[in-house]
Amino acid sequence: MRHTWPDILQITLYNCPKAKLLIRDMLDELFLPWPHLIAGMAIIVCAVYSVWLGGDRFATEAEAEAVAVAIMIVHIAFRIAIHRHYLNSSYTDREHYWTRLFFVSALVSGLAWGTSLSLLIVSAPDQVKYLTLTIACVIIQSATARAFMAPLPLILQTLVLVIMVVSTSAWNGDWVVAPAAVLFIAFQAGHMRNLIAMRFREWQAQKDKDHLLAQLAKANDDLSEANEALRKAALTDGLTGLANRRAFDLHLELYCSPDAGTLEPVSLIFFDVDRFKSFNDTHGHQAGDQCLEIISRCARAMLTDTRQLAARYGGEEFALILPGTKASEARNIAEALRELVCRMPIPVHGEEVHITISLGIATTEVQNRVAPRTLLARADLALYRAKQRGRNRVEVIEAASDAETNDA
Ligand code: GH3
Ligand code: MG
Ligand code: MG
Repeated sequence: MRHTWPDILQITLYNCPKAKLLIRDMLDELFLPWPHLIAGMAIIVCAVYSVWLGGDRFATEAEAEAVAVAIMIVHIAFRIAIHRHYLNSSYTDREHYWTRLFFVSALVSGLAWGTSLSLLIVSAPDQVKYLTLTIACVIIQSATARAFMAPLPLILQTLVLVIMVVSTSAWNGDWVVAPAAVLFIAFQAGHMRNLIAMRFREWQAQKDKDHLLAQLAKANDDLSEANEALRKAALTDGLTGLANRRAFDLHLELYCSPDAGTLEPVSLIFFDVDRFKSFNDTHGHQAGDQCLEIISRCARAMLTDTRQLAARYGGEEFALILPGTKASEARNIAEALRELVCRMPIPVHGEEVHITISLGIATTEVQNRVAPRTLLARADLALYRAKQRGRNRVEVIEAASDAETNDA
């Protein structure tokens, strides 16, 4: 991908806000005072060399050199102070402030170098002038090499320096500096452009990476959601929204297995809709489905604890698993449920009909724990008794002996 100069000039450190670490690394580098110290020392050496060469000179020339030295000393102090400020202040989320400060300090440096080099060009003897121009070239080259980090400020800095040095040279009668500067800058510009284009690609790669990572994170979230939905669906009854048979088995195993480790009774209420076949035959299966949904809501209304579970065991048979519930408490709950269902109007073709349920209860006591299968068989037996004894009632299997008596 080729980048045009307008593209390149547009790049600032803000262009990649996500790459904060990258920006920070660059600012760490850009604020370092060493390049300014070295350039300043070189200019000071030039001025001292010029004074040392002495010769036939005006007092103003020596003054100009003194001013150049003073500017460089102040400039070095300024860059050191800015660097200390950068190190001592908190960086966090202030990249705009620091990039702006860098912009200003780059222009100040451009002006400081431009002024002191111009003063030397005007005042120094010829040997030192060449040295001065060489230092200008080295500074430009150094700015060019760093321009990929912050193109705009460093290009402007270079322009300030070049314009000052070239115009002073021209004013001083040295016209050859202008075309030489143009050639040199053109050469440096190509170099700068390549570095900036590399930077562009790095930013682009960083953005692409961020984008892909965001997509990956979203895909992961979607997958987790889908897995969660699937897990719920695998344990939920489609018609009633209650726990399904699989969830029922797992829950009963969790609270009733001998190694469940709980020291509390667990009651199981099994219930079945009375004469549901004839309800379906009379009112249709849709009304039957609606009836099952209403009964499910009643069953859910009985739950008072997160450990309790209402499940659709199959067809029109339901169950409540009640950990921590004694037989007597379970009987109260079953009676309440029976009454609630009795009273619940079932809308059928504009009419309201009523339906009843029969319930069987079995409890596994702390001293006399039984396996889930046994508990299930006892609750089923209790339900069978309720049906036998006229329906719309609750029966409880009180103890193992009771179950065995009836089994026999
Ligand atoms: P009992 O009082 O002895 O339980 O009589 P019953 O008619 O309820 O018992 P039976 O087992 O003969 O009939 C159960 C009926 O439940 C048969 C079936 O059509 C109906 N049934 C089972 N599952 C569903 C369902 O999901 N929707 C509907 N509408 N009916 C169902
Ligand atoms: Mg049945
Ligand atoms: Mg039935």
